[in-house]
Amino acid sequence: MRVDKCKGCGGSMFDPGAKKYCSNACRQKCYRQRLKAKRAPVAKPDQLIHCRYCGKSFQATNPRREYCSANHKKQNYREQRQLRELAEMEARLRTWTAGSAIERSVLEYA
Ligand SMILES: [Zn+2]
Ligand SMILES: [Zn+2]
Repeated sequence: MRVDKCKGCGGSMFDPGAKKYCSNACRQKCYRQRLKAKRAPVAKPDQLIHCRYCGKSFQATNPRREYCSANHKKQNYREQRQLRELAEMEARLRTWTAGSAIERSVLEYA
C-alpha cells in the first residue's frame, strides 16, 4: 500500500490511489491559498530596494520602485536636472570662452 502525503496538511494518507488531499477541507484550503497567492502582489520578504536618493533600504511591493517615497523621487529628479544643467552650462562655457577668466570663475564656483 502506498503512503501519500496530503498536500493540504502534510498528513500521511494510507489510501491507495491518486489522491492529493486527505479530505475535502484540505482540498478547499489549498485551492483558496492558490487563488490568494495568485492575486496577492509579489512581495517577497527579501525584496529590499535601496532608495536612489537617500540610500535607505525599504520593502517594495513593486520591484520597479526606485525611491522610498514620492518626495525623494521628486528631489532626485530635481537634483539630477540641476546637475545636468550645470554640466551643460560648463560645456557651453568651455566651447565659447575657452581659457577665459569667466570660465575659470564658473568652474571654481561649481
Ligand atoms: Zn489534509
Ligand atoms: Zn529615500
